[in-house]
Amino acid sequence: MRLKKPKRPNETVLEDLTLSDADHELIAAANAVLERYYKPFWHTVAAALRSRDGRIWTGIHIGATVGRLAICAEAVAYGRAVLEGDATIETAVAVRHPKPEETDRELAVVSPCGACREMIMDHAPDARIILKDGDALLKLPIRSLLVLPYRR
Ligand SMILES: [Zn+2]
Repeated sequence: MRLKKPKRPNETVLEDLTLSDADHELIAAANAVLERYYKPFWHTVAAALRSRDGRIWTGIHIGATVGRLAICAEAVAYGRAVLEGDATIETAVAVRHPKPEETDRELAVVSPCGACREMIMDHAPDARIILKDGDALLKLPIRSLLVLPYRR
């Protein structure tokens, strides 16, 4: 639980940051994409976004020989939400595949990179992000992950 911005002075609103069944469905959607499309180096991360209307949009990371040209899974998923949906992000999650040399072979929730934090903040400043803290999963506002976003 975390304090939310009060609607009126002296009002305290608690926001539940624990994961809902819908959040677990979002993680499962990202895992399903990665299980199906994982390709070492080229497709190693998947993302799933839930729009405000409840629809889920998935994306896969696109690796590139020139590393800075790689495209994050969140951006691919958001592009689908723009073209096919309502262009909103209520909650987002990314999962990564273990590297070939890692002994833990489980897919794992990962934090969005700095660029994706900026992208999500630009388009959905009220979005929530599912993260992993040790063995625990939690959901935090994108604003808390990017306190001072880049501005031109
Ligand atoms: Zn990213």
